[in-house]
Amino acid sequence: MMIMKAAFIRKYGGPEVIEFDNVEDPQIDANSVLVRVKAASVNSLDAVVRVGGYKQFVKKFPHILGVDFSGTIEKVGEKVNTVTEGQRVIGFPILHDNSCEYCKEGYENLCKSFGVIGRDINGSYAELISIPKENVIPFDWDYIQASTIQLSLLTAWHALAKRVQLREGMNIFIWGGSGGVGTFAIQIAKLFKANVITATSEEWKAKKLKEIGADLVINYKEQDVLSKVMDFTNGRGVDVVIDSLGPDTLNTSIKITRKGGDIIVLGVGIKESDLTPINLRNLYIKYIRVHGTVIGTKKDLKQVIDLVKEGKIKPVIDSVFSLKDVREAHKKLEKGERVGKIVLAIN
Ligand SMILES: [Zn+2]
Repeated sequence: MMIMKAAFIRKYGGPEVIEFDNVEDPQIDANSVLVRVKAASVNSLDAVVRVGGYKQFVKKFPHILGVDFSGTIEKVGEKVNTVTEGQRVIGFPILHDNSCEYCKEGYENLCKSFGVIGRDINGSYAELISIPKENVIPFDWDYIQASTIQLSLLTAWHALAKRVQLREGMNIFIWGGSGGVGTFAIQIAKLFKANVITATSEEWKAKKLKEIGADLVINYKEQDVLSKVMDFTNGRGVDVVIDSLGPDTLNTSIKITRKGGDIIVLGVGIKESDLTPINLRNLYIKYIRVHGTVIGTKKDLKQVIDLVKEGKIKPVIDSVFSLKDVREAHKKLEKGERVGKIVLAIN
């Protein structure tokens, strides 16, 4: 029996429940691959798994956290001919059956057997990960950068390019602009020549968000979000809101959206509960469309790999930790003391 280092949980709770220790090497079957992980970025999803927000999906303890990764193929199952040993790959986060009506239409993110790496199976905070062959895509650039794009960039791209077709001159408000999805969403919106408004409570973050491309950064602790948005849009409201915080922000999102505008809900923050009261009268009188969206498709991931390779989108790396310091990385994530992605460097 071979052993590897991994970061896992044996109970739910704060960053302190994450353990870093030896576990057995994962096994592969005929249709899966073993990847030697080089880098794994930290996502809010990992923290939601950790606090117990996905109890119904976590099958057993110890459970290894982590959805995003980049690495090299260590070993392939006997029926795998799509990738070869030594090849550089990143993960496609969604477990899917490739056969249901949604998969056949190319919407793996709606698969009837939908699952997520690091939630339904052991994740990437480890020296090795075993996953289905459908869940790796070759790439040929930097491991640290590549580990940041799967969940965050894929989600932002699918939301802005597929759920709403963002166009030149549109106004968009992005909650959580300094997060992983947020820093990518700002860049995608600028790529489509939209005007970007975001909000933060700290000056150092506001400065970085402007560097990334935000046209207006509102200090939501000192300024009134609604009146600042109305000033910027000549009293009209924004065309699109990206809301990744949900319970705390959805009613403000409804207020700042123009009549007939779109709100994209793609997360609820790091919480165990996702319930919130919303003002339905405001919603229907303003003729607003609310879109749910989840991650993205494999085709989208191939597109964003090219966008990063061509330099059109640049991952914003906040910090890099070694795997043994995973608790510190999660504390940083939870306190929101970051702009962009937090990465765990592994092998
Ligand atoms: Zn399917």
